[in-house]
Amino acid sequence: MENLGRRELIKGILLSPFLGLKLARARSFNATIELPPFPFEETYLKGNLKGGRALIVGGIHGNEPGAYKAAEILRHLKVKKGELLIAPRANFVSILTNKRGYNGDMNRKFAYLSPKDPDYGRVKKLKELIKGYKPDLLLTLHDGFGFHAVNKRAWGQCIVIDEESYRGIELGKEAREVSKRVNKKIENREWKIPVYNTHTFKKDTKHPEQRKSLTYFCLKECRVKAICLETSKQLPSLEDKVRFHLLMVNEFFKLHNIEVEPSLDYVMENLKEYLYPRTYYQGELLINGRKITVSGNKTFKLPKGSRVKFLSFHGTSGVNAVSFDVNANLRKIRISRRLAVKVKDDFKELFTVRFVVS
Ligand SMILES: [Zn+2]
Repeated sequence: MENLGRRELIKGILLSPFLGLKLARARSFNATIELPPFPFEETYLKGNLKGGRALIVGGIHGNEPGAYKAAEILRHLKVKKGELLIAPRANFVSILTNKRGYNGDMNRKFAYLSPKDPDYGRVKKLKELIKGYKPDLLLTLHDGFGFHAVNKRAWGQCIVIDEESYRGIELGKEAREVSKRVNKKIENREWKIPVYNTHTFKKDTKHPEQRKSLTYFCLKECRVKAICLETSKQLPSLEDKVRFHLLMVNEFFKLHNIEVEPSLDYVMENLKEYLYPRTYYQGELLINGRKITVSGNKTFKLPKGSRVKFLSFHGTSGVNAVSFDVNANLRKIRISRRLAVKVKDDFKELFTVRFVVS
């Protein structure tokens, strides 16, 4: 076998100088580190009583934690009336790297997307989810910049609709009703939540880029009512952002005959409990066939030819590993000398596992 392999190798090098170069390069990799895939989570909750059906999407933009944390909280509630389908982390690689779009803006990828795009699989999955489930209402959650009530060009703190209505799908009335109800509970003038109509379907819209967005896709391609909820990145705390999301979601749920347990009023009053669940963090690795548990910063010296695989994590469903030394999309990484892997809970860094080939 060995002789045959060598013969093949020499033949290859003789036949193609490029192949020879490739093989020479491949041999300089000394260890393989395999990280877990980015799961696409979807949670389906159904109540005993009949009611509306809503799909909640969080984390299209990775640096908007108020949005994906609010969606995450909803996953842990019971539904009494109606149905919920929740996809809290649409863009997990961007959440872990805390970027708006690690692979470019995902909210511009719903019209056309090359199958070569690193986000292709997740966008396709989301589209299939919408087409398959056909909810009465889709809410996509974001934390935008600034405060729309005092700056009409800012996307923060508003309910965004693409049109007043589209082919019988009524958007404006419902959005204004929610806006009216939540604003009764908001004292700070800057933080009030008005309705922002982008008139995406109009020829002379100021926002033609929105024709590539998730809500436009829902309306045009699926005839699904879709509304975008924005809190502000500039709110003082993460709790504030999550609270405003839940405040809006609560009113949409009421309009659509959806009831959760405990109530969202209770959740908002006890928000810290839901936002920071008590847990411990740890990862399980397989290093050259041996299982090892890590729960803090650690450096492993690896002999050449080592194979490392991150098997699983304990903590929340936001826990995963990512390396900033290479393209963060990569899940199987071949290293020649060293690699640092950060274990994170969404945007939060937990610990770093370093590998050095000796
Ligand atoms: Zn956003």
